[in-house]
Amino acid sequence: MVPRPAQYLLRFDDLCPTVARAQWQRFLPLIEEFGIRPILAVVPDNQDYELKHAEPDPEFWARMRSMEAAGATIALHGFRHVCNSKGRSLVPLHRHSEFAGVREETQREWIQAGLNILRGHGLKPRVWVAPRHGFDRSTLKALRKEGIGVLSDGLARVPFTRGGVTWIPQQLWRPVDKSKGLWTICVHSNTAHGSHVDQLLAFVRQHVAQFTSVDRVLAELKPTKLDLAERLYEAFALWRAKASRTRKRTGRRSKR
Ligand SMILES: [Zn+2]
Repeated sequence: MVPRPAQYLLRFDDLCPTVARAQWQRFLPLIEEFGIRPILAVVPDNQDYELKHAEPDPEFWARMRSMEAAGATIALHGFRHVCNSKGRSLVPLHRHSEFAGVREETQREWIQAGLNILRGHGLKPRVWVAPRHGFDRSTLKALRKEGIGVLSDGLARVPFTRGGVTWIPQQLWRPVDKSKGLWTICVHSNTAHGSHVDQLLAFVRQHVAQFTSVDRVLAELKPTKLDLAERLYEAFALWRAKASRTRKRTGRRSKR
């Protein structure tokens, strides 16, 4: 059997009416021209001042609806994006989280409220994206109870099932050439420089046939539990990601 070449998913984080509009809109031609079907991670009720880059865009929700109609997948990106909890996450890359460590009932209320807000704007949220990768077993339970069976997170190279939820891993923050596996490239448009846009555009142009969508991933790759080899890879990748974050943190400190 000829091995399947690598596949890529694009995910845009921190979308809300106060998104840095000009920065975000630089990515739209790329999505339209190449027919990309990204994950749009939308904060339902943003209260995080770091995501308040502009006055609320009156066109924001209509834009999300038209992008969903064109094939994008809407993800619930937390509830208010305020990360005050210090609970340990299942993907422990950050110290603070909105959800990890919070009581299950509260998490469920937030998820329910967030889904209602997005649905109230005419969207059909189908995927969970935790702010700062922060979520725990209680989050998985709450998601299942609210009918959300897919999340975008984790560092394995293939989608898989765990805790009753399908995980579509998200491992990259910039495009990287890979020989096999499924790779989600996460873009924070608020802080992306012009060079990020150019780099992504060049990559998409070169690999357009390898860009997939959440629907295709679920239908074609039929996720199951990870085998031992992939679990070991995942543990190693997590260790490496944590080490690089620690290096960046201590590097910043010593530069001060
Ligand atoms: Zn976020």
